[in-house]
Amino acid sequence: EPSWLRGYLKLNGLLTLSVFAVLAGCLLGFMLRGSHLSTQAKIYFSFPGELLMRVLKMLILPLITSSLMSGLSSMESKACCRVGVLTVTYYLWTTFIAVVVGILLVIIIKPGVGTEMDMTNKDKPEYKTDLVRILKVPRVTVQPNFVYIMPDDSGPTGRTVFLELTPPPDIHYKTRAGSNQQMNVLGIVIFSATMGLLLGKIGERGAPLVNLCQCINECVMKIINTAVWYFPFGIIFLVAGKILDMQDPSTLGKKLGWYTVTVLAGLFVHGLILLPFFYLILTRKNPFTFIRGLLQALVIALATSSSSATLPITMKCLLENCNVDRQIARFVLPVGATINMDGTALYEAVAAIFIAQVNDYELDFSQLVTISITATAASIGAAGIPQAGLVTMVIVLTSVGLPPDDITLIVTIDWVLDRFRTMINVLGDALAAGIIGHLCQKDFPRRPTGKNSHNMQNG
Ligand code: ASP
Repeated sequence: EPSWLRGYLKLNGLLTLSVFAVLAGCLLGFMLRGSHLSTQAKIYFSFPGELLMRVLKMLILPLITSSLMSGLSSMESKACCRVGVLTVTYYLWTTFIAVVVGILLVIIIKPGVGTEMDMTNKDKPEYKTDLVRILKVPRVTVQPNFVYIMPDDSGPTGRTVFLELTPPPDIHYKTRAGSNQQMNVLGIVIFSATMGLLLGKIGERGAPLVNLCQCINECVMKIINTAVWYFPFGIIFLVAGKILDMQDPSTLGKKLGWYTVTVLAGLFVHGLILLPFFYLILTRKNPFTFIRGLLQALVIALATSSSSATLPITMKCLLENCNVDRQIARFVLPVGATINMDGTALYEAVAAIFIAQVNDYELDFSQLVTISITATAASIGAAGIPQAGLVTMVIVLTSVGLPPDDITLIVTIDWVLDRFRTMINVLGDALAAGIIGHLCQKDFPRRPTGKNSHNMQNG
């Protein structure tokens, strides 16, 4: 084995494996599509992927609470304010830019204009029943930032018992015995940030809790470091399972094709041109070196379509490869994974205007402004879970008088776009941490010695 190969594998082995896993998953999925597996077989087939999702979700709650509490408790209140204001301003600003990029592209490309008859009213599946059927969930209820997805309850089997070993935390469950819902991450972020600020204020008496949080944080990072070696295997089945389940792509019309091109082009322009440009201007460092350190997280985002589930890996990449200040990452990332979704905002704007174009519905300037505001809001309200953006889009559509039923027009292709917009969501959060870390450097001089230095370095 030549030494360059060994060096390369040592540095990039996991990333290479993960990329191969995505490709292998696609291949396997397409190969098995012809074989008409039974539902039962499909459930067992997707088990390794489901386990991967569970492991990631299991880590979200301890990671967010311990990061925010320990991160904020050790900041000076002035530094806290500065970082907080900068973070929120930067997030809103970049989300808004993303929306503008989306609006410009969809107006230029006009994916929904034309006489092609593939989307007449009679072809539209009926709202609710069909949306729900296609999303493969019996019932979806939306409230800002809470998306409750209620799967069918089937009794415990060997598989479910095994999955229960890696429980996602039951933070905001609207329970129906045994069912498996999403948690309210925004609520956790707000609670933990408040606790962190107060812990900083009460001083010495808060130290045991701060220490506890730092220990939890350290352990979570250790779990991640071990679990990542399972991920490539999980990714294969996660991706293959999705491809097995997808609708036949040949049913996509030309309009939907152009719509897909528009969203992808927008994500490309925003994620690989504009955001790196901001990073370059503000930090004077090479954005692509930074993005290279982040690739592992981007692959996981592609595979899981969930920025919350990717959060542990994003944290790992930022701390290990991108050299971002620990305290900054602990604050900026969890907040970003919850409220900053540039990709989602861009997609919501494009989708709403696409639906207007399909319906021959002229939008005037004030309606475009409304769309840009509501798309920003809807992206903030979307939880970092698969296809949350599709659900919060109802807000955007109703704000300009478009029929929410028309979400069904774009639902077939949504799971693909979801993966790419999640990548840009994760990229946006990470670049933000890099930029804010740079801008606030003087607030957080690195402390090689001092009371908490051990924990600060490792925790
Ligand atoms: N899946 C996206 C995320 O987790 C949210 C969405 O746009 O649906 O970031």
